[in-house]
Amino acid sequence: MRMPVLFVGHGSPMNAIEDNSFTQEWRALGRKLKPKAVLMVSAHWFTRGLFTQDAAEPEVVNDMYGFPEELYRLNYRVRGSAELTDRVLASVNRPLEIRNDWGLDHGAWSVLVHMYPDRDVPVVQLSVDAGAAPDELFAVGRDLRDLRNRGILIIGSGNVVHNLRLASFDDPAPYEWNTRFDAAIRDWILGADFESVVRYADLGEDARLAVPSTDHFDPLLYVLGAAEPSDGVRVFNEASEFGSLSMTSYLFE
Ligand code: ZN
Repeated sequence: MRMPVLFVGHGSPMNAIEDNSFTQEWRALGRKLKPKAVLMVSAHWFTRGLFTQDAAEPEVVNDMYGFPEELYRLNYRVRGSAELTDRVLASVNRPLEIRNDWGLDHGAWSVLVHMYPDRDVPVVQLSVDAGAAPDELFAVGRDLRDLRNRGILIIGSGNVVHNLRLASFDDPAPYEWNTRFDAAIRDWILGADFESVVRYADLGEDARLAVPSTDHFDPLLYVLGAAEPSDGVRVFNEASEFGSLSMTSYLFE
């Protein structure tokens, strides 16, 4: 069965242990989508060069600080998938190496614990290559597209808008540049104009504020590469958090 491809805005690590409108969507998706394995591209594995994993059981990486104990105890342990790792290695036309010193980080498990709470779906992570240009990341996604025909669910986990320096925990109203940038990306995606998304830097100051570092935006580029312009698109969790984050998420099916 052909799998959709998914971009999730993951937001705060607290979503891992909260029951809110975002996590309810993730749970509903997990009930609907039953992949053989997940290929996860998380913003939090941001590397020089491109890496993937072949551990039989990936480490759980608690890469967040100052959160409640409950989060650190969550320990989302699942199997890896040697078969998926091999397919990723064979598919990607870019230097790609194995590294098992990283496992599943909170960008991965804060979402997966809701989608697959029974921990019965194997997961392999693929890093975000900090040194690659947007069109190169899009091309990696394209290389991975055929995995969808093999029962693999590709998930990009990040945030379209992610500026922690300007985050406000008192005033949740979005900055105007947040709303504008998020809407521009959404309109391009709904119009199947992925090329404009790849050239998001053309949005100038709005892009610089929305994407001050590319880690949280880049997973979307992988996902768009793996999507077909003819896919139907569902936009969900269209909301801002802390003024300077967007939770807007996309399912291509
Ligand atoms: Zn994050």
